[in-house]
Order: sequence, then C-alpha cells, then structure tokens
Amino acid sequence: MNLVLMGLPGAGKGTQAERIVEKYNIPHISTGDMFRAAMKEETELGLKAKSFMDQGQLVPDEVTIGIVRERLEKEDCQNGFLLDGFPRTVPQAEALEELMNQLGRTLDYVINIDVDQSILLERLTGRRICKECGSTYHLVFNPPANEGVCDKCGGELYQRADDNAETVGNRLEVNIKQAKPLLDFYESKGYLRNIDGQQAIDIVFSDITELLGGRA
Ligand SMILES: [Zn+2]
Repeated sequence: MNLVLMGLPGAGKGTQAERIVEKYNIPHISTGDMFRAAMKEETELGLKAKSFMDQGQLVPDEVTIGIVRERLEKEDCQNGFLLDGFPRTVPQAEALEELMNQLGRTLDYVINIDVDQSILLERLTGRRICKECGSTYHLVFNPPANEGVCDKCGGELYQRADDNAETVGNRLEVNIKQAKPLLDFYESKGYLRNIDGQQAIDIVFSDITELLGGRA
C-alpha cells in the first residue's frame, strides 16, 4: 500500500495519518521527520541537506528525492508507506514517479482530504487562549461555557495574532496555490482520490478505509 496523503492546514490530515498507519501497519513518512533522521544519521545526503539549510537555502530536489529514496528502501517500507508533505511540487511528483519505477513499485492512491476554504478558515481561526492561566479553547470544537471567559479561572480569552482571519487566510491562499498543480497532476495520472474532510473524524476515516479496503 503505497500512499501519498494531501490536505490543507486544518483539514485533519495529521489525525487521519495516525489512524491509517496504525490500521495498515505502514510507516508515516513526513518530510520533516525524514530530513531530521537523515541529518542525525549523518548520511551523505543528510549532510548535504544540512549544509543548504544552514545557509538558509532551499534543499534542491535531487537531494530531497535522494533522501526519500533512502527512506523508501528501508525494511519497514516493504509493505507500503504513507508519504506526508512530499511531494510538494510537480517536479517532485515526477521525480517520485521515476523513483517508484526504479524501485519496481507504483503508487496506489493519492488521498486528498478535501475541506472548503471557509470551513478551514473557521477551524484555523477559532482558537482562544486564557490570558490568566493559558488554557486553550476552540469556538467550534471546544467552546467555553460563557463567551470570552475561561471556564477554569474566569480570565479573559484572547486570540493569538497568528490566528487572525487575515493572516490565516493569506497562508491558506498560498497553500491552495501550491497544491493546485500537484492535485491536477495526480488527477491526470488517475491516482487522486478526494475524501470529504467536512464530516466527523470517524466518518472521514471510514471513507478512507473503504477506499483502501480491497488492498488491506
Ligand atoms: Zn483561565
């Protein structure tokens, strides 16, 4: 089961990733973890990546894809994997295709957890924090009993500057623009499966297992 997982911030990708890897017993391969491991093990590619990062530069695709290759060749990936955060661009997706060919494997699905932008905005801007005790709330998922007031200490709730609608909206726009060509690419290749991420977490997961069921 060779999978790529996609989804915008707030779509619930992390939660679904955890459940998928647990049910199907495949490793969750996030870009960040992969880079950290390669740097910690001081592989040649890990050291190369580090030297770019230390200079504040983007790691070139050939280094990144090399690190992906080393990771996918490991024993724990023999029954499959869940890639998360890679590929990010069409050239990276093309490089992954080539790599899969070389490894004699194919991608099964690219799962995209699909949520409307307005709902993402609501999810991502709903966090409120208590000025007094630091307790966190969410207007949709975990609202305080009285609006604007901490349940625990009665302190005033505030919104972090990073969580305001304009900042979050701009960040989302950038993410949507980046994801679009990649989604189109995987659509044209026939890998893309959109999962409705606006349902309850359990329903989203059961839609995913229904998709993967025949291959478990
Ligand atoms: Zn409080």
